[in-house]
Amino acid sequence: MRKTKLVAISTLALLSLMTSCSNEKKISNDGNEDLSSFHPDSLAQHIKDLSSDEFQGRKPFTEGETKTIKYLESHFTSLGLEPGNGVSYFQEVPMVRITTAAEKEMVVKSNSGTMNLKGFEDYVIWTDKTDSNISLKDVEVVFAGYGVVAPEYHWDDYEGLDVKGKVVLVLVNDPGFNAGDAGLFKGKTMTYYGRWTYKFEEAARQGAIGCLIIHETNAASYGFQVVQNNWNASRLRLDDRNSKKKEPHCNVIGWVSNAAAKKLLNAAGVSHDVITRADKPGFRGQSLGLKISTSMRVKAEYNVSNNVIAKITGSKKPDEVIIYTAHWDHLGIGKPDAKGDSIYNGALDNASATAGLLELAKAFKRAKHKPERTIIFLAVTAEEQGLWGSAYYAKNPIYPLKKTLANINMDGLNNYGKTHDIIVVGQGQSELEDYLERELTKVNRVITYETRPEAGSYYRSDHFNFAKVGVPALYTSSGIEVLGEDDDYGKKIKEQYNTRDYHRPSDEFNSNWRLDGAIDDLQLLYKVGQRLAVAKKWPVWKPGSEFKAIRDESLH
Ligand SMILES: [Zn+2]
Repeated sequence: MRKTKLVAISTLALLSLMTSCSNEKKISNDGNEDLSSFHPDSLAQHIKDLSSDEFQGRKPFTEGETKTIKYLESHFTSLGLEPGNGVSYFQEVPMVRITTAAEKEMVVKSNSGTMNLKGFEDYVIWTDKTDSNISLKDVEVVFAGYGVVAPEYHWDDYEGLDVKGKVVLVLVNDPGFNAGDAGLFKGKTMTYYGRWTYKFEEAARQGAIGCLIIHETNAASYGFQVVQNNWNASRLRLDDRNSKKKEPHCNVIGWVSNAAAKKLLNAAGVSHDVITRADKPGFRGQSLGLKISTSMRVKAEYNVSNNVIAKITGSKKPDEVIIYTAHWDHLGIGKPDAKGDSIYNGALDNASATAGLLELAKAFKRAKHKPERTIIFLAVTAEEQGLWGSAYYAKNPIYPLKKTLANINMDGLNNYGKTHDIIVVGQGQSELEDYLERELTKVNRVITYETRPEAGSYYRSDHFNFAKVGVPALYTSSGIEVLGEDDDYGKKIKEQYNTRDYHRPSDEFNSNWRLDGAIDDLQLLYKVGQRLAVAKKWPVWKPGSEFKAIRDESLH
């Protein structure tokens, strides 16, 4: 009985292995014919259109949005794709713009007396709340180390601390970064726990009413002046008035400068080495015995933007989906540059990958074999102001996350020619990297990795919102080993873009762009998706990924 059963199972396994092999073989042969759908001219035309002055820099809520989303809808329609949201190609994303006007000072009371910290110079605060007035009155301050609760690293900075109704003071990045210990968290590589957004979220979950992060240039990867740009600025977030699961928000969030943090520790009579001790396992935070007071006025304006979504229904497993994403939005019309140009065209960022999404849609639609699983093309809004379009989708998924195999995100394509490599952002996160590597090897190309993983780039584009809800997510960046050019050419071109054009009116389309490398990269991402569409096993997060537990929990 037992034996027969075993034989039966192995025959079955063999059969299914055979079918999967033959499917995979079919893909690798015919798949290459499908690649001819990709063309640099059509890619260029879409980039040119989307980044033209007529689209006004594609800012959410503007005429530029209306033009952009209509453009995408009409192209998805003419390519023969189905609408991705019932009968509609749109998913409305309700948002609120919060503008704060903070009081100029913060009063700090301690046993040794009273002192004032100066807004902008010593600290920058804002709020995610929409109440018209926010005030802190003699609120206790607690130092909570890194403000991290990370079960997979056996780390809980809030253990034994009472922070309800208090303000927590926390360090930027994670313990591994400062300890320089590769065995602690991910060493120099920033984990999700190092991100400032995480610290605010965790503090609110712990019941704190305020969270202030101590700035440190190396650990943050940018100077305090970048933080200061946020002083009394306005920012977007999702409008959660109608959502069932409301996330808690602190009343006051923000940063204090390193110098101001030292003033706070001095006032509390606490030695500065509390900061270096915080990266030692077993460290416990403490109340600083300080009481702070300050206030701010708040203006909340509600508005609705749109994600654009289209699909190709799978032939065998239509309820299982693979989602390609690219953000369609950019910065709109703003401060003019030296030439008087005020339109932030965002040609590379991110008309290029939005155009890439249309090329991918065309290739999947024209493919000889219909994908077995459903392929979704999702152009998300409001990336530039906080990854909100993708955050909304992840909270309000049109296709269940449990049935979503993977997200493949693109933000900025290669415009400088064919490369030997492609950069994977977030080394070792998921098996999607192995899928990519397999396809790269076939075309004699290689993976390289981001040079500054401590900057936490994996947590800075739309795929991150999929990762946060457990969906394995792949994010690549253009390679730097440019064929036929000097070794440092690719790096130079990238640096030049970052210093000269990134988030400036000069990020414009140019007919000299060399898009053959972008076509190579799109074809690779296409082949990864094609492979996922027939894969026997779903891709998983690798051990050590901070998203593995979330996925395991959501699938069981
Ligand atoms: Zn972008």
